[in-house]
Amino acid sequence: MSRHVYALSLLVLLAINTVSAVDYTVTNRATGTAGGARFNTVIGVDYSKQTLASATDFIWRTFQQTNAADRKDIQTVNLFIDVMGGAPAYSVNNEIHVSDSYIGGYSGDVKTEITGVLYHEMTHIWQWNGNGQAPGGLIEGIADFVRLKANYAPSHWVQPGQGDKWDQGYDVTAKFLDYCNDLKNGFVAELNKKMRTGYSAQYFVDLLGKTVDQLWVDYKARYGQ
Ligand SMILES: [Zn+2]
Repeated sequence: MSRHVYALSLLVLLAINTVSAVDYTVTNRATGTAGGARFNTVIGVDYSKQTLASATDFIWRTFQQTNAADRKDIQTVNLFIDVMGGAPAYSVNNEIHVSDSYIGGYSGDVKTEITGVLYHEMTHIWQWNGNGQAPGGLIEGIADFVRLKANYAPSHWVQPGQGDKWDQGYDVTAKFLDYCNDLKNGFVAELNKKMRTGYSAQYFVDLLGKTVDQLWVDYKARYGQ
């Protein structure tokens, strides 16, 4: 191989590595259960891998993480369908675990529902958590905000303005963050960037000029709550 061809091959390899920076694996460890069988029939490994990749792209865009240096250093994300009850799904480090009994027991369009669940869990993989100092409700709210913006919010979620407090979590906090993001486009991306190294309620003041408590009052008033 000539030196030129060698150099060209290296460049091509480099380009391939840059494009497909994250690998995805999908393992169904529940093939013997009704939910595991439903996963294979209705959702499947190929669709799940495509969804994991689409979710990652969407999350990087939502968080405005254009460069690798802006993102977490993760090369592989592994999805498992597990024999488990309790929560529909959870994530830990670079793993997402989805419950077979949730898939088996879901009444309705389970493919769309699991797609939404994967967007939520994938957000946990990529989001910053303020070095562990951010409120859990905010972490869950950001994950559901991403799911909302990806158009995978289920119909049973609260309406805008509903809920008891801003960091209640999940759909309540997601709808509040959507309001904040409408006040300033890119707000959630900026908030996530700040949460790379720590957390303070002052971030809301820095970005929107009001305390989070005042924003919550404004939000409730805006929707007549
Ligand atoms: Zn979550």
